[in-house]
Amino acid sequence: MWEISAFIDLTGQRFGRLIVIERAENIKGKAAWKCKCDCDKTLVVSSNNLRKGNTLSCGCLQKETIKAQSRIEGVRVSNLKKRKCENASSKYKGVYFHKTQGKWLADIGLNGKSIYLGRYNSEEEAHEVRVIAEKILHRPFLLMEADLKKKKILTDRIGISEEEAEQLLENEWLQNQIQKALEYIEAS
Ligand SMILES: [Zn+2]
Repeated sequence: MWEISAFIDLTGQRFGRLIVIERAENIKGKAAWKCKCDCDKTLVVSSNNLRKGNTLSCGCLQKETIKAQSRIEGVRVSNLKKRKCENASSKYKGVYFHKTQGKWLADIGLNGKSIYLGRYNSEEEAHEVRVIAEKILHRPFLLMEADLKKKKILTDRIGISEEEAEQLLENEWLQNQIQKALEYIEAS
């Protein structure tokens, strides 16, 4: 009997880190493909998951991105973004009232260590110093994280290689578009 199924041949195509090697046995009656990941692992993925961009690697991509995003050069970026703790004595992050001294203290955390920024007569003064320290110490890491996110959009969602993504991100217009998209995603 002739099989009339006009299935779409995905052999040789790239989806993120996966390259389709050959047709595999169907998964639940649906076409599936044996793929090779850039990290050398092989796996079977359904046509659907490949073409919808649901599967872009053997799992190594997610692991790497999560690692990269949670730690940039040893700094836990999520900690930098944390709001001040609820029962702190000041309305500002990193500012505390020292009762016995009657002064406002400022500090900033980096890499699990607390850096003492001095004591001040007013809460506002302590806050100003803390803001300057944030710009010097935290901002570079937050910017690096933003760059990583932009790159991830290009590699994961559009499925281009990391080198290509880096080249594209040198384009200022594209940078801005992706930035807008990121802001939209984060706001929604
Ligand atoms: Zn892999």
